[in-house]
Amino acid sequence: MVNAVTREQQEFVYRLSLGLARSKIDELDSSVHGFIAELGERLCSDRAYLITLEEATQTISITHEACRNGVTPQRDAIQNIPMARFPWLRDQLQTLPVLVIPEVEELPSDAEEEKLEFQRESIRSLVLVGLRLEGQVRGILGFDFLEQSRVLDSETEEFVLQVGEVLGASVHRQILASRNVRFENSLYRYSDQFPGVIFQFRMYPGGHVTFPFISEKVEDIFGLSADQLSKDAQPLLNLIKDEDKASFLEKVDESRRCMTPFETSFRACKSDGTMAWVEARSVPARLADDSMTWHGYFFDVTDRKQSESEIEKLAFYDPLTGLPNRRLLRDRLAQALTGSNRDHNHGALVFIDLDNFKNINDSAGHLTGDELLVQVGERLKNTVRDWDTVARLGGDEFVLILKGFPAEPADAAAKVEKVCEKIRDALNEPYDLNGIEYTGTPSIGITLFYDHDTSLEELLSQADMAMFRAKEDGRNCIRFYDCMMQKKVSERLALESDLRVALRKNQLAVHYQVLVNEKGEPVGAEALLRWHCPGRGMVSPAAFIPLAEETGLIESVGYWVLEDVLSRIASWKERGGPLSKLQVSVNVSARQFHLPSFCSTVMALLRKTGASPRNLKVEITESALAYDLELVEETLRTLRSMGIRISLDDFGTGYSSLGYLKRLSLDELKIDQGFVRDILDDPNDAAIAETILALASALKLSAVAEGVETKGQLERLVRMGCTRFQGYHFSRPLPALEFEKLIEQASGDRKRRAW
Ligand code: C2E
Ligand code: MG
Ligand code: MG
Repeated sequence: MVNAVTREQQEFVYRLSLGLARSKIDELDSSVHGFIAELGERLCSDRAYLITLEEATQTISITHEACRNGVTPQRDAIQNIPMARFPWLRDQLQTLPVLVIPEVEELPSDAEEEKLEFQRESIRSLVLVGLRLEGQVRGILGFDFLEQSRVLDSETEEFVLQVGEVLGASVHRQILASRNVRFENSLYRYSDQFPGVIFQFRMYPGGHVTFPFISEKVEDIFGLSADQLSKDAQPLLNLIKDEDKASFLEKVDESRRCMTPFETSFRACKSDGTMAWVEARSVPARLADDSMTWHGYFFDVTDRKQSESEIEKLAFYDPLTGLPNRRLLRDRLAQALTGSNRDHNHGALVFIDLDNFKNINDSAGHLTGDELLVQVGERLKNTVRDWDTVARLGGDEFVLILKGFPAEPADAAAKVEKVCEKIRDALNEPYDLNGIEYTGTPSIGITLFYDHDTSLEELLSQADMAMFRAKEDGRNCIRFYDCMMQKKVSERLALESDLRVALRKNQLAVHYQVLVNEKGEPVGAEALLRWHCPGRGMVSPAAFIPLAEETGLIESVGYWVLEDVLSRIASWKERGGPLSKLQVSVNVSARQFHLPSFCSTVMALLRKTGASPRNLKVEITESALAYDLELVEETLRTLRSMGIRISLDDFGTGYSSLGYLKRLSLDELKIDQGFVRDILDDPNDAAIAETILALASALKLSAVAEGVETKGQLERLVRMGCTRFQGYHFSRPLPALEFEKLIEQASGDRKRRAW
């Protein structure tokens, strides 16, 4: 049966629960104290107290105490006492809601510890109520009686039980509150050492915002006190830079809606007037009243942002010229492609390479070279419009993105070409490179883009190819990319790899074409390279020699030819007869001729094969002479001192500077077959041939007419005074064995000659 408490006791319980519930956390202490004192009086105890049990440490402490006048308080003595010291009490309170000890003297023997303790305090009788939380005893409401022996009637027992329940809830509240205080204290402590600002930010349902907690450091940075901000957060939020405000609020809103951590960076005005980069992180929580709090921190990351932007500069700009680098160029090109799609107009990618940049760099030094690159960059920037991009890829390669040309391709191409001509003119102007005057030329390659999905790489390689074509066509040129060019390039790549195979697999051979004198007697031969390529048939040297020159393969090819020819010459010497008297011309390309090791290679091969230098003639073209003239002179002198003759091939087609003809040690000029071909029909060609013959005789050089195909041509040349001839009229170039047969039959016996 439930014992009814008295009406008066009932009222007390109501008052207690209302009073505790209504008191704010900081008023709770005194409110609890008041009720404890009143309860003590009601039960006529000498001491009334509240003990809390610290769960983590399992220790007990008196938190509130009210004593009758003259009775010694226990509060200071009972602090952090291990509960384990009172096992009997613990067990009793676990099972009994109210423990009444009428006589301490009569406690059972297993309560020895408790008995001693109570006796020490001169307690005769006790009433103890366990305060429970989720079934566990978390506190004790206690009453000590020093003189009287106390027993409770059933109503009073029920009453203290109800009081215990109400107090239990309040004890819980107090535990949480004290935890918060401790947390806050440690926050204050840590926030001093923390390099950033720690905060708790609260947003009320009505939109009002506060910082219930914010480290004092905020005042140093932003000049706002933590106190002020604890009431209103707005002044701090107002310092966020206008441009960053929208994204900041958006992030807050997103964090609120999705309950995801808030993380952002923004700029804010510091109290010293400068702008700070701030990075903030916090975690949201929703409170019962539907307001939101965020716990987190923010940092001043201005220094880091600055170094980040330095790094970005390094990553996206060329340090020498300050122009965008390849990486940024790709970005800009992607944008330009999208722009061209959207606006339906043409853009152009322009590849610029400085001609002979290596020369100035090598001869005047890298600093001068660098200065040239900087000035070129400036001129390019000044020539194009603001929305165009000028980038440097490295070395002497610059790339421009030009935008906004008409949709009609021919129209666009014409306009782009105009811009590029302006660029070329600007780059042709003399430069002052720290006192050194310099004039240079660029090679310019262009590819257009419009409304299609060509990849960036593809466009770059197209412009690059166009630039190479410009180089090929003689420098200071502007060339456009087209599909035919692409095809040519792919074919060349295939040819190059086949040629490498040819060298390894012995697919090369040397054919010989006879050279005769005015009597028709064989006096020499020209060694002409042949390539029998399995997939291609016979490949003309005119097709693969220029490629071999560009790729550098000419060095190996040239070596192979020299070795093959010299071995042949040596075998003819041994064989004796007309073959041993022939002078064999070997074509040497400019690149091979300029190898520093060229002369010593020839010498070594002469020695290795046993061939005589008297039987060797080196044919070079005029392009080989358009180089450092002193070096050319030296090479020629060395070769001649070894007994080797020098012939200048294709004479009249190249630079034809009479100056070097006088200066260089040469033996022979070969009149290019282009003049011989039309010698009967074109008076100009006839005049040129005649002039070359006159020139040769003046310089005491012999002259050979190439490409003599008819008797008419031969007779005309003979009349002009030419004494050496080569051409199909006498013989086509022949494989070595056939050539040997031809010579042995022809020599001496005019009738047995084929011509
Ligand atoms: P080139 O040195 O001017 O050689 C003469 C070219 O004229 C040869 O062409 C020859 O076959 C051709 N020819 C000879 N007589 C006649 C004729 O009556 N009519 C016509 N239309 N052509 C005639 P080929 O053999 O095709 O060689 C082309 C070029 O390739 C050579 O021009 C030479 O510059 C180069 N070349 C050939 N072999 C070598 C080599 O071993 N090394 C180097 N570096 N270049 C070579
Ligand atoms: Mg030749
Ligand atoms: Mg020739």
